[in-house]
Order: sequence, then C-alpha cells, then structure tokens
Amino acid sequence: MDIRELASIKSGFFEALEKANTEGSLLELKGAYVGKKRGVIADLLARIPSLPSEERKAFGQSVNLLKQEVEEALNRALSGLNAKKSAIPKMDLTLPGKGSHRGHLHPLTTVRREIEEIFISMGYAVASGPEVEDPYHNFEALNTPADHPSRDIQDTFYLEEGDLLLRTQTSPVQIRSMETRKPPLKLIAPGRVFRRDDDVSHSPMFFQVEGLVVDEDITMADLKGTLLTFYRKLFKKELAIRFRPSYFPFTEPSAETDLTCVICGGSGCKVCKRTGWLEVGGCGMVDPKVFEFVGIDPEKYTGFAFGLGIDRMAMLKYGIDNIKYLLENDMRFLEQF
Ligand SMILES: [Zn+2]
Repeated sequence: MDIRELASIKSGFFEALEKANTEGSLLELKGAYVGKKRGVIADLLARIPSLPSEERKAFGQSVNLLKQEVEEALNRALSGLNAKKSAIPKMDLTLPGKGSHRGHLHPLTTVRREIEEIFISMGYAVASGPEVEDPYHNFEALNTPADHPSRDIQDTFYLEEGDLLLRTQTSPVQIRSMETRKPPLKLIAPGRVFRRDDDVSHSPMFFQVEGLVVDEDITMADLKGTLLTFYRKLFKKELAIRFRPSYFPFTEPSAETDLTCVICGGSGCKVCKRTGWLEVGGCGMVDPKVFEFVGIDPEKYTGFAFGLGIDRMAMLKYGIDNIKYLLENDMRFLEQF
C-alpha cells in the first residue's frame, strides 16, 4: 500500500462521481467510499495497525485527506442536485385545471331554434324575408290601408331614402310566400321586427315568429289545435289556451291567444296579473281580401295565421322580467343560460 494506490482510488472515485447524476447513484457512491463498515476508506483505515509503525502516521494522514476530499465532493454533488430539483417549478397535479371558456348560444337563439324545431316536427317550412320592406308588403297587401293608425310615423321606422321602412311585423313574409308559392302552404317566418316602442316589455327591435297555413278546409279549430300543441311542446306542460275576439287587418275573424300562466299554472301571480292567463299572441283566419292581393282563390282556399314574440317566449321560459336584458349583451346575464 502506497501513495500511488491512494491516487488511483481517488481518480477511480472522481470518474465514478462524474457518471453519477441521480441522488440514488450518489448515495450509492457515498456508501462505497465513505460508508462506515464496508467503505473503501474504512478498509484503508483498518489497515493502519498492520503497517510498520514509521509509515502509519503519513498513511493515516493521506487517507484522511482523501476521505475529506471524497466527502466534500459528494456533498457538493448532492447539494447541486437539490438546487436543480428546486429550480423546477412546483406543481400540484391534484389542482383542477384552468379550463377554456366555452361559449354558448344566446337565449333568444336557443328559444328561436326550439320554436323552429317544434314547427318543423309538425310539417312546417321555415321562411324568411327582408327586414327593410316596402309599404305594400308590410301594410297594403296585409289589408292595412294608408289611413290605418299603425302606418303612422309614431309607430313605424321609415327610412329617409326611398319609400321604404323597417318591417313592423313578420307578416310581409306571408305575402311574399303566397306571391311565389301555390297552396298548400305551411310555413313559419321567424325574424327581427321594428317598432317605435320602448319600455320594460317593449323594445324598438324584437323577434317574432309568424305562422301561416293555407289549404282547403282549414278552420279555426285547426288553428287552435296547432297553437295548443305548440305551446305544450315549448313549455313542456299541460297548458290550456283560450281565444279572445280581437282585430287585425289581415285576419277575419281575429283572436288574441291566452295561455295558462306558465309561472303559476293558472292560480294567479304577479306575472299574469292574478288572472291565471298570459296573452301570448294574435292569430286568426286569413282575410279573403289578403288572398285577393296575392291571387289565391278565397272560394277554394282558407287559411290561418298567427304571430308570437320570441323575446316574450324566452322571458316566460327563463323568468326574465325585462326585455332589455336580452339585448344588452351583458355577460353576467348571458352566462346564466
Ligand atoms: Zn301567473
């Protein structure tokens, strides 16, 4: 045993240290070299008593120096490894993820689509027409002559250029459909309409659905049955409807439709003003004069028409008390649906 042997042990250790890059392998190396019982250094120290007495001191000092170097190198390597570990950002894999924000349809779109699906399931086609109309389709052909109050500038938005207006109802789609198609006709026309109206239940722009059926032997009983079926499907409740006599220029006879209050079920509440009924839309049998405008023989054909507000249906379905919420696009409101 001499100093050269110690040098080769030392270089062997540093070679091994170079390769050890995990905590486990460093601890293994530590055990092999400076372990108290089986370590290389412990073996060397154990040999001291068997050495000639004049060599013991120098050898002992060299071994202790080696031991010190080995321990320091191991400690440096271990603490370097820990520093690397703590540099990795700490993650709690059990935390819920951030998730991406998923959008959804506007409540008005949802209700419009539901309404369309119900009528499509009853054999109706979905028609559309222009929002900027001429007075002929919006009024005249709907039997609303020039002196009719609804044509007043107080109620209707007229465009500055030309003789045009923003449609006040979806009914002109009836006219356009009857002009281009022959009976039998069975269609709904959902869309925006515009009126000079502005309070909690009226907005200058709102959404209507118009319904039109023209065929032979269509009666008011068909109309009532159709609306009853529709409202029961929309609100998923066994509701009743009743007709109250009314007046519209383009239907005769005309009726207002009352529906069992969907909020209280008919027992009376604030929404139905304690009556148990909700006014949900106008309807009636197509006036023969309207048929004459579009060239349909009123002796052969009869038909019914109805209108209802999509906004109103959404308000009743979701319990919304101000129509403005549906149009303001406030995310705090919209996120509730
Ligand atoms: Zn009620």
